[in-house]
Amino acid sequence: MSCMLRLAIQKSGRLSEDSLNLIRECGISFVNSSLKLKTESTNFPLEILYLRDDDIPGYVADGVADIGIVGENVLVEEGKQSLTVEKLGFSRCRLSLAVPKTMEYDSIQDLNGKNIATSYPNLLQAYLQEQGVQANIHTISGSVEIAPSIGLAEAICDIVSSGSTLISNGLKEVERVFKSEAALIANEDLSEEKREILDKLLFRVHAVQRARK
Ligand code: ATP
Ligand code: ZN
Repeated sequence: MSCMLRLAIQKSGRLSEDSLNLIRECGISFVNSSLKLKTESTNFPLEILYLRDDDIPGYVADGVADIGIVGENVLVEEGKQSLTVEKLGFSRCRLSLAVPKTMEYDSIQDLNGKNIATSYPNLLQAYLQEQGVQANIHTISGSVEIAPSIGLAEAICDIVSSGSTLISNGLKEVERVFKSEAALIANEDLSEEKREILDKLLFRVHAVQRARK
């Protein structure tokens, strides 16, 4: 079998559709089945693996996948930003600190000694340290926005795009911790053959991006 580049994308979620659209706009055809874990392109040496987004940086770092598309929030949280090839300009969002809208909030110093719930402990810790704030970080994997109302934490640090989820949970955004968009990542020691396929893919990605502007 001839050499193929293996691309990991999110199976189903906020990155999936735009990731698939980018590949299609590159003129790469494949049969998309949400039931399958893997598909091969019919006209380009590319194989697509469908994964949880959190698993993508690790799989690319280990070479299980050669390249991947993932949010910078997940990538940097996992300490894998060195894999970045380039930013892709979609799935833009921010990681923000939020507190109950009734809380009096003047500055980040108001979070000293407080409990903060988040799924992004590393990004949050780095930000608090930079700001000289000491708080207790509680790592939880989902439904972070309900933590204040159930008494688990006084503040949260979560992904925000429009802010409507915060508002509907009685919270207000008070600090922006990290700005994110989708990024293309690659394994650091690709074979020469795979690198050539990646270069061809990047050439097409750049053409798509120019056409979109
Ligand atoms: P998975 O089941 O693959 O683990 P998930 O629930 O962790 O999925 P999604 O909510 O689908 O992840 O979000 C995937 C990525 O999309 C986020 O990590 C982030 O980079 C980006 N994103 C863009 N806008 C938003 C938003 N409003 N809320 C959450 N993530 C967003
Ligand atoms: Zn995830």
